[in-house]
Amino acid sequence: MKSSKKNEGIEQFRIIAAIMVVAIHTFPFASLSSDWDNFITLTLFRIAVPFFLMVTGYFLLGPFAREPYYPKRWKIQQNLWKFLKIYGMAILFYLPLSFYNGTLRLSSTFFQIVKRLVFDGTLYHLWYFPAVIIGLVLSTVMIRFLSLQKSFILGIFLYFVGLGGDSYYQVFRHLPGINSFYQIAFTLFDYTRNGLFFAPIFLLLGAVIYQKQTKSQKILPLMCSLIALLVESFLLHHFTKVRHDSMYLMLPIVMYFFFQFLLNWQPPFKFSQTKEKALGIYLLHPLMIALIYFAGKIVPIFSNSLINFLFVLLGTICLTNFLLPLKRKFKPNANPFLASRAAKMISTENLVKNVQAISSCIPEKTGIIAILKANAYESEAVICGRKLERLGVNFFAVATLQEAIELRRAGIQGKILILGYTAPGQVNLLQKYQLIQAIISLEHAWKLNQQQKRIHCHLKIDTGMHRLGLDPDVVSIKEIYQMEHLACEGIFSHLGSADALDEQSVQRTKRQIQIFDTLLKNLEELRIDYGVTHLQASYGILNYPELNYDYVRPGIILYGALSSQNDLTKLKIDLYPVIKIEAKLISIKEIAAGEFVGYGLDACLTQTTKVGIISIGYADGVPRALSNTGFKLSYKETDIPQMGRVCMDLLLVNLSAVSDIKVGELITVMTNSETVAEKSGTITNEILTGLGTRLELGQ
Ligand SMILES: *Cc1c(COP(=O)(O)O)cnc(C)c1O
Repeated sequence: MKSSKKNEGIEQFRIIAAIMVVAIHTFPFASLSSDWDNFITLTLFRIAVPFFLMVTGYFLLGPFAREPYYPKRWKIQQNLWKFLKIYGMAILFYLPLSFYNGTLRLSSTFFQIVKRLVFDGTLYHLWYFPAVIIGLVLSTVMIRFLSLQKSFILGIFLYFVGLGGDSYYQVFRHLPGINSFYQIAFTLFDYTRNGLFFAPIFLLLGAVIYQKQTKSQKILPLMCSLIALLVESFLLHHFTKVRHDSMYLMLPIVMYFFFQFLLNWQPPFKFSQTKEKALGIYLLHPLMIALIYFAGKIVPIFSNSLINFLFVLLGTICLTNFLLPLKRKFKPNANPFLASRAAKMISTENLVKNVQAISSCIPEKTGIIAILKANAYESEAVICGRKLERLGVNFFAVATLQEAIELRRAGIQGKILILGYTAPGQVNLLQKYQLIQAIISLEHAWKLNQQQKRIHCHLKIDTGMHRLGLDPDVVSIKEIYQMEHLACEGIFSHLGSADALDEQSVQRTKRQIQIFDTLLKNLEELRIDYGVTHLQASYGILNYPELNYDYVRPGIILYGALSSQNDLTKLKIDLYPVIKIEAKLISIKEIAAGEFVGYGLDACLTQTTKVGIISIGYADGVPRALSNTGFKLSYKETDIPQMGRVCMDLLLVNLSAVSDIKVGELITVMTNSETVAEKSGTITNEILTGLGTRLELGQ
């Protein structure tokens, strides 16, 4: 579902940009001509760092500028944390080198250390991390309180201030007052190429291009601006003594055209994991520079700048490729999970299979609204939501505001529809977390609208189930579509008898479908843009596959079960249970014939029996109604019958069929909720959502 071609140019250029950074720190042409380095390394390759900043701006600030709400802010915060962590680790890693080359000294004052940490970096390449962190915070705040345009203008202003302290220092400093300004500035930081003056413009430029959307790939302006950049650099290097040459007047203009070029670029090569590799090269090349510098003292060949550059580059690439697979090994492993009492094991692989099965039986243009209510039928909404998002599902539904907020706080970025009632007083939260509210009655619509806070909505229509929803009356529905503060982006209904194929049920369903379709037609005639449509839950998908609305809303089949085992459905699909319940065998005893086991007189032994005590009960969701139904648990494929009444925290089993079992082993209590549901006289939906919060979680 994910298009792999998307932004391929950007992805691949990361590697090239990282190589440019290596060049900037090794001066490959120094042995040939310093002009070459001025032109190529210190001018052309200066696009590398702005490129990285723009990527961050494009993917983080762009979406935030469009919707400055929680989900996008969450992503920014998440990335800030990541940058901070990488910076922290890099500081520690390079500490010896920082001391060796004097960027840190034992005699450094506190002020000097702070200055290093916040602006200049503790080693020459590390300035990037505080810069991107400060720039990102600054830009986010600016966008939050100003428009993106105004923020960008501010960014340009800051860049100008930066220019005056960088390659234009000699040009600007003669102006009155300017020199003293920079004198003060340079006590705070050594370069203006930092998070205040350099990073914001490029971060914001990325966001501006994201907003622009029309991606023109104009070669001519790119070429012209590049030539202008080279001319600028030539003039500066020949007629002035440049203090530092990271910032040029033409650089942002080049970047504006170049980034758009990259968005359309189809690179002829395809490296994998470009993000990690580029980061690796960026972080590790100073280590290689140092190693080769020491080696060069022994083998003089490295003193040729080009050879030195190539060796540094090759060494860094090898080191990165060597370390990359290790990264995965050090990741906290999800597996070493041992249930201490009773646990639910979540199989996201099975979730994926179910999504694939569902996708294969809906029309191609129909999307999936994954139902994550009731903690994804207790299959863990956050885990499932994240997995689904990675699969390309970008629309979710829950029953309550709280459930929606929980998903947002866990970083779910897709749309989230609240199917149930939300009190009008809580519109603030709907807005803050960018949620979509179902309008469940005319009164609900009025009251939500009265709050005067613009919120996203879908209209729920009562087509005959007579639970939640608006009457299918065009006049009042039109009124809602025109309410000032409700952005109504969709319309839906729910079927009351889609699960049965007897004549009466089919008739009821067909009537509901007809009422829905007629309403849509009438709205169309009134030229009302009713937005996206959806009607079918799990059984609607399986029994009415010919329908083709914009979305379907699978719940129970997503988690790998039918509501009832014996339901006949028009389409039959293979489903895989997402949840498996296991519990520990905590005691074994031999009980004599004639004894009763457990509460009451239900289970009287006819022969001496090996009885096992399992640490799970009805408080964990094993229904008490399973007692004496012949329900079986299992151990290594062997059935073990449950005995007597299920207790609150425990249940008893007959272990006679297994000879080698020991206390402490895990017993499978449930893989198939369909059997449990049938034996306890309910549907799987109730069994799954009734699983207790006391269960430990494994994956
Ligand atoms: C719960 C729910 C669903 C999902 O139902 P399943 O039968 O589990 O697929 C779909 N739509 C609405 C409105 C629901 O409340």
